[in-house]
Amino acid sequence: QLSNSLAHTDVSKTLHPYTDARAHERQGPLIIDRGKGIYVYDDAGKEYIEGLAGLWSVAVGFDEPRLVAVASAQMAKLPYYHTFSHKAQEPSIRLAEKIVGMTPAPLSRVFFTSSGSEANDTMIKMVWYMNNALGRPKKKKFLARNRAYHGVTVASGSLTGLPNNHTDFDLPIIPVTHLTCPHFYRFAHTGETETEFAARLVAEAEAVILQEGPETVAAFIGEPLMAAGGVMPPPAGYWQGIAALCRKYDILLVADEVICGFGRLGAAFGCEHYDFTPDIMIVSKQLTSSYMPLAAVIFSQKVYDAIADNTAKIGTFGHGFTASGHPVATAVALENLEIIEERDLVGNAARMGRILQTRLGELSEHPLVGEVRGAGLIAGIELVSDKKTRRPFGAAGKLGAMAFVAAQNHGLIVRAIGDTIALCPPLIINEDQVHELVARLSDALDDAAQWRSA
Ligand code: PLP
Repeated sequence: QLSNSLAHTDVSKTLHPYTDARAHERQGPLIIDRGKGIYVYDDAGKEYIEGLAGLWSVAVGFDEPRLVAVASAQMAKLPYYHTFSHKAQEPSIRLAEKIVGMTPAPLSRVFFTSSGSEANDTMIKMVWYMNNALGRPKKKKFLARNRAYHGVTVASGSLTGLPNNHTDFDLPIIPVTHLTCPHFYRFAHTGETETEFAARLVAEAEAVILQEGPETVAAFIGEPLMAAGGVMPPPAGYWQGIAALCRKYDILLVADEVICGFGRLGAAFGCEHYDFTPDIMIVSKQLTSSYMPLAAVIFSQKVYDAIADNTAKIGTFGHGFTASGHPVATAVALENLEIIEERDLVGNAARMGRILQTRLGELSEHPLVGEVRGAGLIAGIELVSDKKTRRPFGAAGKLGAMAFVAAQNHGLIVRAIGDTIALCPPLIINEDQVHELVARLSDALDDAAQWRSA
């Protein structure tokens, strides 16, 4: 029964991303009406802790007046201009300078897009363009990982390593090999230590590079901590091993920081947290706290020079979007990054993250909880039916779906990724709110355990 005409219009006029459309027609939408801090409210006035910060992205909370003020001032002054053919506007120039100043790696250039998917597509084309310009047209292949998430456009969706993103859409269409997902709990062999597991995955990557031919492998892409595939931190030593391989075989290392970037793990960037140096970084989401759509490819001077030298020969880098560097989006991003710095939200993510991870660790004793994992303010709680065998309850995803519904009943929005409950609250969360979030989750797990036994 759909409660109101807005819900009825939604189910009769739209197709929702990542949604079972027929189920949606029956149950209707949860219409979110307004936000305040870490909370959102539905159209009936019910309060929810936004335990996923929207889509892993609203760092500063859901009612930041400074972002509203900056957006409206920029709208009034220059609502739109582009960056094609030598044109520029102040917000995108200032933001590029700000971003380059923040990156821990020696990266010096920025290309703006509107979404993480477009940024990854841009990155692929830049890498290919660069290798063509350098006279090595065979060096085009990518290495990615199973369960990775890099977007949904036909090229970025090819890098994504989730099965339904491929088979349902005839992907991949670019040359890419997906390596073993670096999740210790699920993919380590019996008796293997974390370091041995990491070494095995690095050896697997090297074997693939040698089999394909290093002269054909252009880049390795990975999220520092895999998020949308199930919140899976890498095993110790993994990134150091992968970075060394990339250097050895002249392969570009791309850190997809779309979720990790700007403080999520309690460090400014995920590559800083795991101590490795990429050649290219992809950022989005917390860049604007998702108040405006914006993403960026951040890259080294070496990549830039190869591209720039070639444009001098052929006249142009034939790629770009109407909204590349959009002035309202870049002005909002600049203000958002100022707020993150002024309020030390990266430090807050580290401090609140420690409390969150400790409190979630206590849930390990819960009969449904197989593993609690995470870093900073991102966590995954994997639910199992039997802690020893780590088996799901019936069909995979059933326990996750039950906990998701129970959490919503208790006023907590989470993401269920199969049987893993993902948490990624806004970076402004305080200590009382962390305890409140864990209390609501704990109640939800108790409900799910009761439903399972019923
Ligand atoms: N890369 C990562 C790591 C992501 O998590 C996402 C989205 O969740 C993307 C890329 C794609 O970003 P968008 O949804 O803005 O296209």
